[in-house]
Amino acid sequence: MSEFKSPRKRFGQNFLQDQNIINKIIDAIAPQSNDQMIEIGPGRGALTLPLLEKLDQLHVIEIDRDLVGWWQEKHIANLKLHEVDALKADICSLYPGQSDKRCRIVGNLPYNISTPLLFHIFKFLPCIDDMHFMLQKEVVERITAIPGSKIYGRLSVMTQFYCQTQNLFSVSRHAFTPAPKVESSIVRLIPHSEPTNAPLEIFAAIVKQAFSQRRKTIRNSLKTWFSAAELDALQIDPSARPETLSLDMFTLLARTAAKPAKINL
Ligand code: SAM
Repeated sequence: MSEFKSPRKRFGQNFLQDQNIINKIIDAIAPQSNDQMIEIGPGRGALTLPLLEKLDQLHVIEIDRDLVGWWQEKHIANLKLHEVDALKADICSLYPGQSDKRCRIVGNLPYNISTPLLFHIFKFLPCIDDMHFMLQKEVVERITAIPGSKIYGRLSVMTQFYCQTQNLFSVSRHAFTPAPKVESSIVRLIPHSEPTNAPLEIFAAIVKQAFSQRRKTIRNSLKTWFSAAELDALQIDPSARPETLSLDMFTLLARTAAKPAKINL
């Protein structure tokens, strides 16, 4: 039987050890036996084992070969192991032949790759029902921030383009071993039932440009896209700062910018 190696920093291995927190997370996920659940980064099983008790089947994605070997030796019939980098995983193909049912994704994500990992997973939203992730507390606060707040920014708007977001609860760094330097929170993400009606690439470019110069008014930061008169015509105040613009306003900007007449200007 393989022994545990020391936790690997490069894989963001901070293992949950507080049983009350583990129970609270499992309650928030509320697994149902026939869910098509996928866990990213099972580690030593803090969430995996209680999930396995409730589910007919669980697919896990783990990059650490030693941990995968440790799980293989356990021969758990309803556990399907995928030794792969989650950043490259084809999420929709893990439950083949059941395209009528969507997946649920969970994970205490490695902090060092959490944002790129979220955006990788967002490529698979048509086959995803919901997501529950443990992330750095500040990241969850930014993801769930509302317009007008100081932390509302590119990450908030881009995540909310795809999903409804909910900051469920925070988790002390002492719930882990080894304890990370930062506090954590659990976020629930539910893909919008109707995708946001705006062209993604233009939307993303406008949001990036608006927030790259946060202190500037949008008349200045978005001047390559819109004149002040055009912003006025859309009933968006040209002197507004980007952090006051709602998702709907960014959507309106992206749809306007995408109109053929606008592109040919
Ligand atoms: N779920 C366990 C827990 O809560 O104790 C472990 C969480 S630990 C923060 C992150 C886990 O993700 C580790 O098992 C780590 O090896 C794994 N991991 C890190 N990078 C990964 C990647 N790119 N793809 C898949 N798994 C990864």
